[in-house]
Amino acid sequence: MTPKVARFLRDSMPATPCLVLDVDRVEENYRRLTAALPLARIYYAVKANPAAPILERLVGLGSSFDAASWEEVSACLQAGARPETISYGNTIKKENAIRAAYAAGVRMFAFDSEAELMKLARSAPGARVYCRILVGNDGAEWPLSRKFGCEVAMAKDLMVRAGELGLDPFGISFHVGSQQTKTAAYEAAIAKVAMLFTDLKEAGVNVRMVNLGGGYPVRYRQEVPEIDDFGAAIMGAMAEHFGNALPEIVIEPGRFIVGDAGVVSAEVVLVSRKGADDPVRWVYLDIGRFGGLAETEGEAIKYAFRTPHDGGAEGPVTIAGPTCDSTDTLYEKSNYRLPLALESGDRVELLATGAYVTTYASQRFNGFQPLAEHYL
Ligand SMILES: *Cc1c(COP(=O)(O)O)cnc(C)c1O
Repeated sequence: MTPKVARFLRDSMPATPCLVLDVDRVEENYRRLTAALPLARIYYAVKANPAAPILERLVGLGSSFDAASWEEVSACLQAGARPETISYGNTIKKENAIRAAYAAGVRMFAFDSEAELMKLARSAPGARVYCRILVGNDGAEWPLSRKFGCEVAMAKDLMVRAGELGLDPFGISFHVGSQQTKTAAYEAAIAKVAMLFTDLKEAGVNVRMVNLGGGYPVRYRQEVPEIDDFGAAIMGAMAEHFGNALPEIVIEPGRFIVGDAGVVSAEVVLVSRKGADDPVRWVYLDIGRFGGLAETEGEAIKYAFRTPHDGGAEGPVTIAGPTCDSTDTLYEKSNYRLPLALESGDRVELLATGAYVTTYASQRFNGFQPLAEHYL
């Protein structure tokens, strides 16, 4: 938690649950990533947190943007981003959304199938396109499975086809999964892309960009490698496989830019036990799965908690949200422990919750308001 966030929580005591996010930390994270990967161009993955103060700060820093929908494209434009700095990175787009983005000046689009390529040829003629390939997601705490990307052999055929259709077959992308804790995931993916580059050049395709996607992790309960370790591994792999003929390098960080800039402030609604001798207490908060903590699904992302009683004796807990749905249980198997003194009415903080929280909040399930947001 940054000092600015701590001061705001202490002095203003905002109603809970809410996200409080320090936009200066967003800037710091952007600069740290630029320093770790100076040859890469940063396309902020807007979906991680599309709040205007964040987009505006990033526009000021010269960032580019990875948008997943026409609505996100539009949010970037409203924040002052030039259309040339926006990549429409979702491989699954409605054709009218492609048309709207193209009309607004967006000229870079992702695809991973022939049907999507045909849409782009019709509705974004001449645009730069890049094909997303399937890569391993081992090491990712929030993997992306097989939903996006295609096999390398298909990518080759589609890139050749893109040129025939009058599009510019600009690059190849991948995503190693979000909250990726292993630098080796990038190294393996880069090796795969490099072989595809060779094949494409032999086929006469003028491919010139590698998009390394997102995945750069933030610290939750466990330590993760430093961003400089990712930078060194990535540039080492790029040099090894591309030598002096380095292509343009694009990265699409989301979580790393905003995650540790924000804190969710929540209230303990109830602490109870299921039996008199049950050692495990249930701690119910006023935020849960439907209040924005979607990434606790499968206990994948394990947030760190702060309470007013930290340092005192602790015991095991199951942590749950406030709604009348049993899937609204956050952590049952991840060995969470919280202070024995914790009680109804205490305020607790969930650290590093600036990414993938506000936009996952449901609308009024059980009547609860979506998460309030404060940007400092
Ligand atoms: C979600 C997403 C990102 C951002 O991923 P992080 O793990 O938050 O860095 C980047 N690129 C694409 C295509 C995405 O879908």
